[in-house]
Amino acid sequence: MEMLINSGYVSTDEKMDVLNPYDNSIVDTISVADEKIVHAAVKSAKDARKEIVKLSSRDIYYRLSDAVDDLKENKKKIAKIITQETGKPITGSYYELDRSIETLMFAAEESKRIYGENVPIDAGLGGEGVMAFTQKMPLGTVAAITPFNYPVNLAIHKLAPALAAKNTVILKPSRLAPISGLMLAEILANHFPDGVVNTLTGSGQMVGDILVTHDDVNKISFTGSVPVGEHIAKNAGMKKVTLELGGNDPTLVLASADIDRAVNEVVNGAYLFSGQVCMGVKRVIVEKEIVDEFTEKLVKQTAKLKVGNPMDKDTDIGPLINHEAVEKVSNLVEDATRMGATVEVGAKAEDNFYWPTVVSGVKEDMNLVSYETFGPVAPIIEAQDIDEAIRIANNTCYGLNAGIFTENVHDALKCVNMIESGSVFVNKASTFRTDNMPFGGFKNSGIGKEGIKYAVEDMTRTKLIGFNLK
Ligand code: NAP
Repeated sequence: MEMLINSGYVSTDEKMDVLNPYDNSIVDTISVADEKIVHAAVKSAKDARKEIVKLSSRDIYYRLSDAVDDLKENKKKIAKIITQETGKPITGSYYELDRSIETLMFAAEESKRIYGENVPIDAGLGGEGVMAFTQKMPLGTVAAITPFNYPVNLAIHKLAPALAAKNTVILKPSRLAPISGLMLAEILANHFPDGVVNTLTGSGQMVGDILVTHDDVNKISFTGSVPVGEHIAKNAGMKKVTLELGGNDPTLVLASADIDRAVNEVVNGAYLFSGQVCMGVKRVIVEKEIVDEFTEKLVKQTAKLKVGNPMDKDTDIGPLINHEAVEKVSNLVEDATRMGATVEVGAKAEDNFYWPTVVSGVKEDMNLVSYETFGPVAPIIEAQDIDEAIRIANNTCYGLNAGIFTENVHDALKCVNMIESGSVFVNKASTFRTDNMPFGGFKNSGIGKEGIKYAVEDMTRTKLIGFNLK
């Protein structure tokens, strides 16, 4: 699939294959953008700013609503591509599309609610007789850089609020899974003036470094790993950035928990899309009193999951994104077992597949739980009591989401107050998200919030306007 610049398709001689992680077949081929093309995309987006600001909010609302209809019509086609380029089980790809349709609807609605406010400027010395109010202005051009794991929903979380706030956009999807995001951008582009929506494919390093430092790009909205996020933060200078980065999310299962409920939620949270989810359950911290019962039940449920072709509707676990990812997970599990942890089920690797795995006896300083594993592993860390569980939960440089299982309101309140993360859910695993909630981590998990209303706020700037009425 080609890049889109100023409503024209653009390609280069240098190509890259997009592989299906299930069987390594070629899904499609993309062009590798060169410097000239990156600059052309920035110019196209800059030139189109004057066109999008001419549109009324009402017009933006209808354009985004029409795009919702197109996305609905193309749901099956795009979901199939997500599964082909990422290996995500097809039911998960349909769900991603349903969420994306809803996210775009939220953005259409939000485009009519971008309010300034009356400012009582006469409350300040010298302000007497002056009337003032603020207006939310577009930033200009937003560069959206996205990862492989939710290629449509994470792109829509950037493109839709940017357009709702009358910005122009450039999407740079992951080279591992770019096609579905490009299809989404094409749908949006069809509803806006030429140059408002542009796309670039190729090397994240090369394209990213130009976009991040370019004077005509006003905001970087990035979702991806912590190292790349840190690199962007260092290079962005005075540019606005939103960084939605990795997680090492804890789920606490306290002695007061409904254990069956916790087991079901952990199964979903740890193995969803083979654990390649930023807010996946990456550490299961269980109070000593119930650790044996919890582990036994979790192993039983894990063993029932069906590993197989992601195109089959009854497949729970598809492949990881590539073999490198399998090797990484496999090495982390082996490293933990060498240091005294026990594999209770799973830990089988074959081609690009890694079987869902429960590891018990994990210590908080093992590499398996110190960094983001990004694989279908539920590592169980035993805690003596609630205080130790909270301490372990916070003993990480990440802070995206957290889940707590307890039927005791005092325990719940203690945890929600003390756990350092962007969201904390009681009786839900950390993997929970709706697309209108403020989403974004503390600590190394990021800067800024997504969730349409919050992203729109981050994609505008506030101008104060005053009238001297004296
Ligand atoms: P990644 O390797 O960081 O890549 C993300 C994007 O950054 C890709 O488009 C990549 O391009 C691009 N990139 C690479 N180098 C760059 C540079 N120097 N400047 C600008 N962009 C650059 O992440 P991933 O492996 O695709 O995704 C997994 C990570 O994303 C995990 O850490 C996960 O937790 C995180 N994530 C976070 C959230 C959240 O909302 N907090 C959601 C989903 C995923 P190329 O791929 O083309 O090189």
